Amino acid sequence: MQAFRGEIASVGADPALDPAAVRHDPDGLLVIDEGIVVARGAYADLAERYADVPVEHLAGLIVPGFVDAHVHYPQMDSVAAHGEQLLDWLERHIFPAEKAFADPVHARLIAGLFCDELLRNGTTSALVFATVHAHSVDALFEAALARAMRVSCGKVLMDLGPPGLADTPGTARSETEALIRNWRGRGRLGYAVTPRFAPSCSDEQLAVAGELLALHPDVLLHTHVAENKRECAEVAARFGDARDYLDVYDRFGLVGPRSVFAHGIHLSSRECTRLAQSGAGIAVCPSSNLFLGSGFFDFTLAADHGVRLGLGTDIGAGTSFSVLHTAGLAYQAALAGGHRLDPLRALWLATAGGAALLHIADKVGALAEGQEADFVVLDPAATPLIARRTRGAPLAERLFALQVLGDDRAVSRTYVMGNCVWDRDTARFGDFGQ
Ligand SMILES: [Zn+2]
Repeated sequence: MQAFRGEIASVGADPALDPAAVRHDPDGLLVIDEGIVVARGAYADLAERYADVPVEHLAGLIVPGFVDAHVHYPQMDSVAAHGEQLLDWLERHIFPAEKAFADPVHARLIAGLFCDELLRNGTTSALVFATVHAHSVDALFEAALARAMRVSCGKVLMDLGPPGLADTPGTARSETEALIRNWRGRGRLGYAVTPRFAPSCSDEQLAVAGELLALHPDVLLHTHVAENKRECAEVAARFGDARDYLDVYDRFGLVGPRSVFAHGIHLSSRECTRLAQSGAGIAVCPSSNLFLGSGFFDFTLAADHGVRLGLGTDIGAGTSFSVLHTAGLAYQAALAGGHRLDPLRALWLATAGGAALLHIADKVGALAEGQEADFVVLDPAATPLIARRTRGAPLAERLFALQVLGDDRAVSRTYVMGNCVWDRDTARFGDFGQ
């Protein structure tokens, strides 16, 4: 057993609906046994019971590890590509980068660098796009497994993709089946059936995705919806008899409680109603939406309908790997629509909210007793300005300053299953217990 003493904060459920979900131990103790939280609370209440357990003091604010609900690992080197909105950006910058993943050596190199970058930013769980190449999923799963990270991923389905990146409905089915078979139950990994988006898939391939989901009730569905106006117009033109964009996915059995849709910038009230009713949710990606000029997610509309939400960095359309910083951008996107995103609710979105969207909230996201001990130590003095802004401030104000001003610099340590896997001050990754 091991124990950590310090200030601990977590938000296990939407605090707008359940204010008691905010748990704050200003002088707390976190007791861990074989990677699992066995006790957490005020140091004064727990110290005697765990007097025999060695205690390490952590300076800073301990929060649950961040959950990135939508990110593309093959786009890591395409961050900050200039000049285009979504469809042209894909053609000009992204598809060439993804073609390079035909080489498994390249895929393994980037997968390792990507997982390290997640850990440097305090992200311990993620839902990740690979490429159309099945071995790109193997590469990411191998890297995540070696680091004991909780990662879901899937081969991208895109039979209408450009030459070199197009599969077929047949290979989509056989390669996805093989990946699910090979990786199911290993480490903390999960599979996600991953059609790129409706425009890149034939009707036959979307039907295959629906069949795969129906056959494997433990996997997720991961795709994009209603990100960009031109994309929405293309979908409306091709699927003239569908009620709206979400209805296209619905017709192929792709809208259910395990479905995660990125963006949702241009959703109607009907689509929000259907999302909430089905239990599907949106990975909100404000950094990406600003970078590609896509628009602002409507937090008011989502809240009015009770749509499930998480936060995604959407690298490489997003510009930061930091879910903490993405939470600060979510505040700005929400405010553009007149919605004041509370910093404690933003922390929930970045942790337990995202975990719920990814169906891992029983395992991570709240640093609750029985959960896996994935956590981050935030440094309230990460920069001189953050130090000035947080000094003596109450928890919500400190969190807000960290969300708006902070990023990877504010993550002094990242822990996975109780092991330190990133230490900013020594610039070292852990040995991951391997
Ligand atoms: Zn994306």
